[in-house]
Amino acid sequence: MNASASIGRTGPRTRWGRLLARRATARSAIAGTAVGILTLGVSAVLAASGTAEATQEVRRAQAVTQVLNDISVQVNTQDAALREYLATGGTEYRGEQLAATLDSARSGLDWLQQHDAVDRVELDAIRGAYADYSRIVVEIMAQTERGAKVQGYTELAAPAFAPLRDEVLGNVRRNQEALAGYLADVDRRADMLQTVAEVTILIVAVLFAVCALVLVGYQRRAERQTARRLHEATHDPLTGLGNRAMLHDQLDTAVRHGYETGEPFSLLLIDLDRFKEINDTLGHHTGDELLVEVAQRLDDGCRGDDVVVRLGGDEFALIMPTTPDQPEAVEAGHRILEVLRRPIQLSGLTVDIDASIGVAVYPRDGADAAELLQHADVAMYAAKRRHGGVAGYDASLDEGDASRLSLQSELRQGIERGELVVFYQPKVDVATRMPCGAEALVRWQHPARGLLAPDSFIPLAEDTGLIDLITIEVLDQALAQIARWAELDHPLPVSVNIPARSLTDDTFPATVATALQRHGVRPELLTLEITESAVIADMMRAGEVLGELREQGVNISIDDFGTGYSSIAHLRDMPPHELKIDRSFVMKMCENSRDETIVRAVVDLARNLRLRVVAEGVETESALQALDDLGCHEAQGYHISRPLPAADLTAWLAGAGAGSGMANSAGR
Ligand code: C2E
Ligand code: MG
Ligand code: MG
Repeated sequence: MNASASIGRTGPRTRWGRLLARRATARSAIAGTAVGILTLGVSAVLAASGTAEATQEVRRAQAVTQVLNDISVQVNTQDAALREYLATGGTEYRGEQLAATLDSARSGLDWLQQHDAVDRVELDAIRGAYADYSRIVVEIMAQTERGAKVQGYTELAAPAFAPLRDEVLGNVRRNQEALAGYLADVDRRADMLQTVAEVTILIVAVLFAVCALVLVGYQRRAERQTARRLHEATHDPLTGLGNRAMLHDQLDTAVRHGYETGEPFSLLLIDLDRFKEINDTLGHHTGDELLVEVAQRLDDGCRGDDVVVRLGGDEFALIMPTTPDQPEAVEAGHRILEVLRRPIQLSGLTVDIDASIGVAVYPRDGADAAELLQHADVAMYAAKRRHGGVAGYDASLDEGDASRLSLQSELRQGIERGELVVFYQPKVDVATRMPCGAEALVRWQHPARGLLAPDSFIPLAEDTGLIDLITIEVLDQALAQIARWAELDHPLPVSVNIPARSLTDDTFPATVATALQRHGVRPELLTLEITESAVIADMMRAGEVLGELREQGVNISIDDFGTGYSSIAHLRDMPPHELKIDRSFVMKMCENSRDETIVRAVVDLARNLRLRVVAEGVETESALQALDDLGCHEAQGYHISRPLPAADLTAWLAGAGAGSGMANSAGR
């Protein structure tokens, strides 16, 4: 699986998007929507109550009009009866009809008064007119009954009837007008409410849309956050590769799939060699750069359905679903190694890296994820013990792995209990073949496993920081031994190997000075061997520490010269006293002309820079002779002597002094 691009900022990018994402916008939209809905509700209530009130008013006006009309009809009827009465000369029949109409409008007028239906003054005017008219009618009837001569209608009743009729009709008209005015008012109010409702609906619709957008925005943000959290939980932030959690997940899936289909797959664990050294000396930033580059190479190198993850530190893992057996997986491991071994440019330096790869195959090496991982780990450490390369899991490796786990705590105890012993491998002057120094090489006298070579515990010590204790212990023992040989009148310079991290430790020069003083040893009898990588890695800090050591008079030797980093430029800036040609070139220099050329070049380089040059790994007389011909100053190797316990070297020195020093092979 490819490294996922890390998820960047997930917030909205546009101005509108940002505005919508603001909490204040959401709150305002919700509050606005609530106010809008409330306004709509109030409008509806007002409209409903307005309608009810209007209906009631119309009914009332209709009733008033009806009553006024009735009054109008009643007085007109009365007037018509009067005229008939007068026209017939006051017959009894007409008189009864007229009498029946008397006071007929009173109940209507009382109703108007009770219901306060017309203006008081208006009502009084009607009542007054009606009373006048009624009085005249009664008077006419009385006169007629007495047989008196009654004047004509026009002279007597008409002047009283006209104001009464006008008053009644005027009130009918005014009542109609008032109703029309009221209805016009109701219409205006209804129009206004409708406008308010329409505008409110529009605003609510907009606010509702804003609310919806805000909600959708929140939901999207929540989804993005969930996705980011999931990504963070399953990915390594530095390299963008999956992390340990993803490996477990994918491994479980692969095992399930394998169980169901019977298809095997491979798991590779990859651990970088010397990463800690690079991290310690070049700094974390460069270490990070290296990890990113390694991740990129792994990612580029794997197939589409492979899963590559970083487990932490310098450890990576690869699930290869379509690599079904160990030979094929080991071959894939070699291909990966090839890619990783290509030089890497870091902070202006060319760095070579190497890795150890352990292979486990499902179901052959494990039935579940945990077992597969454990066995890939065992295989990886087996590869590490062999100094890199690829190792497939094998049940016989388990023993070695168990011992590795207990090694760390045992080593700490071993150092405290004084189980570290220092062997010395002599160096001879190539021209005279006389001993001219020795290299202090640590061994661990393990109570159960016997004498252990440094390769079996120094890498672990470097990984865990225990190397500092070892450096101090070896320095102390070596200085004590130098003092003893000086007392015996065999003053012999001794070289002590110093790990890279000591050169970035400001207190290291003081530690050396104190140790020299404690043992009363002259500083020129002590040489500190450092690897090229340590010097190159952090020139600034290493330069300061080395400068202080040089000032004390201690010699500096570049060990394993020719491997690791290209350092010729730095030899000019910070010259050591000595170059030590790596044994890999010296051992085969007589058979391999390329090796011989490198040895020759280093010897020439050292001599031109006026540095002493030492060849280590001299296993044959012919190599020693060839070094002599090339002008190499000093030689160290099994042909001269294997590393020996101090007492044996003392004896050897006595023998070498007598001229029989070559080819002791008793030590290891
Ligand atoms: P080195 O510093 O390059 O030491 C030389 C190694 O080459 C020694 O291995 C020595 O035994 C071996 N050697 C010497 N002559 C020959 C030869 O003719 N042929 C072959 N094949 N090998 C030869 P040793 O003692 O196993 O040490 C291995 C490495 O362990 C050392 O390499 C050094 O890097 C590290 N080491 C040893 N002692 C210490 C120590 O006290 N402190 C630290 N930091 N590292 C140490
Ligand atoms: Mg050395
Ligand atoms: Mg060496």
